[in-house]
Amino acid sequence: VIKKNLLVANWKMNLGLGQSRELTLGLVELAGGLKNTEIWVAPSATSIAAVCTAAKGSAIKCGAQNVHPAKSGAFTGEISIPMLEELGATFGIVGHSERRHQFGESNQLVANRAIGTLKSGFFTILCIGEKLDERESGATNSVLKEQLDPVLSDLSKEMHERLVIAYEPVWAIGTGKVATPTEVSDTHAFISSYYREKSKFECCPILYGGSVTPDNYASIISIDAVSGALVGGASLTLASMKALAEISDR
Ligand code: PEP
Repeated sequence: VIKKNLLVANWKMNLGLGQSRELTLGLVELAGGLKNTEIWVAPSATSIAAVCTAAKGSAIKCGAQNVHPAKSGAFTGEISIPMLEELGATFGIVGHSERRHQFGESNQLVANRAIGTLKSGFFTILCIGEKLDERESGATNSVLKEQLDPVLSDLSKEMHERLVIAYEPVWAIGTGKVATPTEVSDTHAFISSYYREKSKFECCPILYGGSVTPDNYASIISIDAVSGALVGGASLTLASMKALAEISDR
């Protein structure tokens, strides 16, 4: 069960081996001084081993940006949980909007990834979020329901305890446009109540993601239903991770 605020770094297709190792060593030192915040890092697949090694014995969790639910098989380009476990990884991100919208991953495929990852004992960050036209036409909640339904309909207690939801409005990712505190608060409240209704459990932690920076994070993390952030651009330097961690740990 996750009790602290989470600060999850999604490095996407950035940082080579040396840069990943160096930034992780800085984050290990940073994490050692935090009381109420956990740092999780999702490097590119080629750096997972190096990051796990650099973070070994620290409070930092290392994970993958995507995970395949099968143990092995004919799935070119994919990575399985046993492979990640060997490296020391302990969580996976699934359903990131870039996977859904640039690589055509459907709600059902994402749900299969999520369920397989949860059943294997990994922590799982399930990303959900609406596109701009969906928000503007009032379809946000129905889009989120469709993304949540195939995961929540068959959630055991053990799976529930390892699940983290990241609410990431697609129009706010990498665009510099942040959802307003009211939009974040209303949407997190909706996710939380829908989660309870569908799964019968009190909602898991919900992170916000979408152009989080040290300049806007204080107003986001102060919202009741926000348990942390999934951070892309601002997770790539130690300086901005330090500033975000400081805000989170206040
Ligand atoms: C993300 O990668 O999930 C993300 C929110 O990116 P950014 O912080 O760059 O908007």
